[in-house]
Amino acid sequence: MSESKNSGDNTLSVPSKTLSLKRPVEAGIVRQSFSHGRTKAVVVEKVKRRTIGPGETHPPREAPAAPAAPAAAPPPRPSVTERPRSDSPPRPTAPRPPAGAGVVLRSLTEEERDARSRALSGAREREEEERRLALIEAKAREEREAREREERAAAAERKLEEDARRVQEAEAKRRSEHEAKRRLDGGAPAPAAAASAAAPASAARKAPGASPATAAAAPAAPRAPTAEEDEAKRVIRRPGIPTKVVVARPTRGAEPKNRGRLTVASATGEQDERTRSVASFRRRVQRLKGHVADQKEKISREVILPETITIQELANRMSERGVDVIKLLMRQGQMVKITDVIDADTAQLIAEELGHTVKRVAESDVEEGLFGTPDVDEHLVPRPPVVTIMGHVDHGKTSLLDAIRHANVVSGEAGGITQHIGAYQIVAPNGMPVTFIDTPGHAAFTAMRARGAKVTDIVVLVVAADDGVMPQTAEAIAHAKAAHVPIIVAINKIDKPDAKPERVRSELLQYEIQVESLGGDTLEIEVSATQRLNLDKLLDMISLQAEILDLRADPTRSAEGTVIEARLDRGRGPVATVLVQRGTLRVGDLIVAGSQWGRVRALLDDTGVQQQEAGPSMPVEVLGFSGSPEAGDRVAVVENEARAREITEYRERQKRDQAAVRGGVARGSLADMMSQLKAVGRKEFPLVVKADVQGSLEAIVATLEKLNTDEVAARVLHAGVGGITESDVTLAAASHAAIMGFNVRAHKEARLLAEQSGTEIRYYNVIYNLVDDVKAAMSGLLPPTLREEMLGNAQILEVFNISKIGKVAGCLITDGTVQRGAHVRLIRDNVVVHEGKLSTLKRFKDEVKEVGSGQECGMAFENYQDMRVNDVIECYNVHEIKRSL
Ligand code: GDP
Repeated sequence: MSESKNSGDNTLSVPSKTLSLKRPVEAGIVRQSFSHGRTKAVVVEKVKRRTIGPGETHPPREAPAAPAAPAAAPPPRPSVTERPRSDSPPRPTAPRPPAGAGVVLRSLTEEERDARSRALSGAREREEEERRLALIEAKAREEREAREREERAAAAERKLEEDARRVQEAEAKRRSEHEAKRRLDGGAPAPAAAASAAAPASAARKAPGASPATAAAAPAAPRAPTAEEDEAKRVIRRPGIPTKVVVARPTRGAEPKNRGRLTVASATGEQDERTRSVASFRRRVQRLKGHVADQKEKISREVILPETITIQELANRMSERGVDVIKLLMRQGQMVKITDVIDADTAQLIAEELGHTVKRVAESDVEEGLFGTPDVDEHLVPRPPVVTIMGHVDHGKTSLLDAIRHANVVSGEAGGITQHIGAYQIVAPNGMPVTFIDTPGHAAFTAMRARGAKVTDIVVLVVAADDGVMPQTAEAIAHAKAAHVPIIVAINKIDKPDAKPERVRSELLQYEIQVESLGGDTLEIEVSATQRLNLDKLLDMISLQAEILDLRADPTRSAEGTVIEARLDRGRGPVATVLVQRGTLRVGDLIVAGSQWGRVRALLDDTGVQQQEAGPSMPVEVLGFSGSPEAGDRVAVVENEARAREITEYRERQKRDQAAVRGGVARGSLADMMSQLKAVGRKEFPLVVKADVQGSLEAIVATLEKLNTDEVAARVLHAGVGGITESDVTLAAASHAAIMGFNVRAHKEARLLAEQSGTEIRYYNVIYNLVDDVKAAMSGLLPPTLREEMLGNAQILEVFNISKIGKVAGCLITDGTVQRGAHVRLIRDNVVVHEGKLSTLKRFKDEVKEVGSGQECGMAFENYQDMRVNDVIECYNVHEIKRSL
């Protein structure tokens, strides 16, 4: 079209036409250059228009011409710009250049055009012929190939079948083989010949189309068997590989069919298949490798299972992932978290499932081996005796201890007594050291013994010569005897004029103590603590007794001992006086005492001197505990932190259980108690009351009892005369009680214990105040009274339905006011249909806080929608009023 115009308007539009003419020519040429691709049809149209003269047959002929050119000149195709030039030269051979230079001369072109078009049409017809032939040939080839392939596939199948039934059908197999071979031999050269024939013919389009087909088909013939072989190999390989791989087999089995159907696709399909399989093979290899590695790492362990164990801990002990354990439990229908505790039976099932062996232990087993490992006889060396002084009050126990120590310190070094650590060691005149427990009295002795700590080797029973055997003397004797500890009788206050040591000796006989002077085996000595009489002799006697006892210990083993005293020091943290009984305690040792553990940071002896180690019978202050242990707790060195934790956690648990048995775990102050009691719903108020005199105590208890009502009652757990002791605190702590001290104070130890346990101790000196406090605290247990305050009424005039908000009542305030957030009642025919709160209060479009009488407003309720016209809204506030007793 554009060309016809060009030719017509040539003279008029010369300047523009030179451009416009060139362009179409260029464009035509450019398009031709693209003809190797799909764009060739476009090129054909353009050319057709230019060659209007020749007629309609041209366009289809031109099309092949275009491809012919690039087919002939594929080498000169370096760039797009060069293409026109490279394309134009081939045309001059045909009468093209004049067409390209049509601008210059038209008369020439018309003549030549005919000739050229004729030549071209001839060429085109030839090409058409060739193409058609090639097509037919290709089709025939394809069909042949398909047939051959089918035959080949059939032959292969037959071959396989025959292989299986080789013995029975040997001849048939041979024949089919011959046939197959014959077909193969006959088929293979045919496509090759066709390809070679087609290639020189170079029907440009067909050649590229057919050549891949033949190329694919030609290699397909030799490849087909290799692919089958490959597959056969794979099939053989797979059975050895885990079950997963088996799944892949059916997809492979389906492939041969596809291969039979398609030529190119099957060829590409095969290639795809190959790459995929390589990748998957690699992955599989990796997976297998990883799997094998996992299995290698998985070592069957002996898992120690306590009575209960958390899943996390179980997983740790098995060196498995917690998730795996949870998965396993989930599979069994148990939904658990990693922190959940499971019993030993379940844990055992899991452990065994995962291929571990199990060792069940009782919880108390954690302490096994902590104490009581027998000593090696060769390592035993003599150790100093540990002495406890007992006796009746005021018989001079403290005086005697002080006297001994002072004398010793003075005689030893001029440093003086610096420390009170609950025990100390002195050196007897014969050079033998003696350890004294500085907590006189049999109560402490027994308390320690009750915890299984046999600390004392020798008991020095102090009896005042002027007083004789008193009740506590008798008790002390009983305790010492029960503990099978030898007694040395020290008859004190011998300096006193009314001292009657003989009376003491004879009185002791009543308690089955026969002193030496009366022909018995109990050592006795007359002393005076104040006058420091016979103190050396007493020490000698102790040494003698120790020799008789043949006290020995092994200092080479790991240390064991007992906490004599423990406290929380402000500057140094928990400090415990430990009496080492066996082995040697060293700085850096990991120790466990009761429910506390720690690493020994420092060891201080009774004079405050730092020591690196403490041998048997040596009392030392130990720094480094995590918390302060209790007196009487046994100390042991453990090998690692895990063990230490295990033991202390077990003991902590035990303690908690015991506390729970005694009446509860939580402790607290008066205020805490109130909230706790509220929460629990109990209306009892437990108290421990200590007073200075019996009279006050009775008065307090009586007044407190009067406070009792049906709702709440004060319960006096324990009422006693005297200072507040540790046992009071323990009792109070165990029952979440508060301690009321009337004109009394807590002992230092009790105070510390109360601090530790969080028990509140209150001191009073006016009964009225005490009772008032209790009353106030008890009042806190009473539920508050609720009182309504009427605000106003409103009548619903209309109900609006507003999207997002819901129903809003348009009201008129009839009396009083209405406040946002106030309580409301919806009254319909004098019946309360709803009670709740106002969610919105609107006046016109504004949200307001309050609307007064006579005004109109919009109201919406919280969680309520069913309001109707003429309903009355009653608005009120609720006040809580605390009650008191
Ligand atoms: P504890 O309660 O058993 O510890 O006895 P103490 O050591 O507190 O002594 C009680 C009282 O007895 C104190 O006033 C001492 O001075 C006094 N006392 C202790 N030993 C002697 C002694 O040997 N002779 C005299 N005359 N008085 C003594």
